[in-house]
Amino acid sequence: MILSDSMEDYLKAIYILQSETAGAVSTSDLATYLSVKPPTATSMIKKLADHGLVEHEPYHGVQLTKTGEPIALEVIRHHRLLERYLADHLEYDWSEVHEEADRLEHHISDQFAERLTELLGEPTTDPHGDPIPGPELSVPDIDQSRRLIEHAVGDRVLVTRVSDQDKETLSYLTKIGIRPGIQATITEIAPFGMITLQLNNHTESVSVPKEVARSIRVRPVDE
Ligand SMILES: [Zn+2]
Repeated sequence: MILSDSMEDYLKAIYILQSETAGAVSTSDLATYLSVKPPTATSMIKKLADHGLVEHEPYHGVQLTKTGEPIALEVIRHHRLLERYLADHLEYDWSEVHEEADRLEHHISDQFAERLTELLGEPTTDPHGDPIPGPELSVPDIDQSRRLIEHAVGDRVLVTRVSDQDKETLSYLTKIGIRPGIQATITEIAPFGMITLQLNNHTESVSVPKEVARSIRVRPVDE
């Protein structure tokens, strides 16, 4: 089955949204995620359903079928391997790799992906901390990370993943020193959601607005 880039992008988006909500994805959430108008998403969903790649129940949402899921995982595998390659070997900043990988992901062969995996030493995560599906399209077990926003003052946390969707957020996080692998203690949560963190390797503390904290995933650190 030859799919258009756009069809692959939809399958990828449905997979990502499905794993965030652990269920069917609404047309409006999908449209928002892909920055398209809901009718555009609706007609693409119909097309994907005609190909047996998704199941769509009115008022319930859309889900990948057993045929659609491996295609989504393969695109995600390509995307995340490319991000790793761009960051590790071509000196791209982590705020730049996503856009470039979005373009390249549809055009690399399985063989190219395999060589890339070897060159990179079989990486398990991309530069944002997102898991890279293996060659058999198995998804590495992601830790039980939660959003930073769900934690309380005094919690010590390890940053595991940062959403790759927004370039400005990533640039901001680079500037204040937050990336996967960094440990921090939450020192204050202001009434309107400004979260202040003491990063392990920093003397001064940093503050992130609620909107930014939403895109940071962390895991508790045992003392
Ligand atoms: Zn990405």
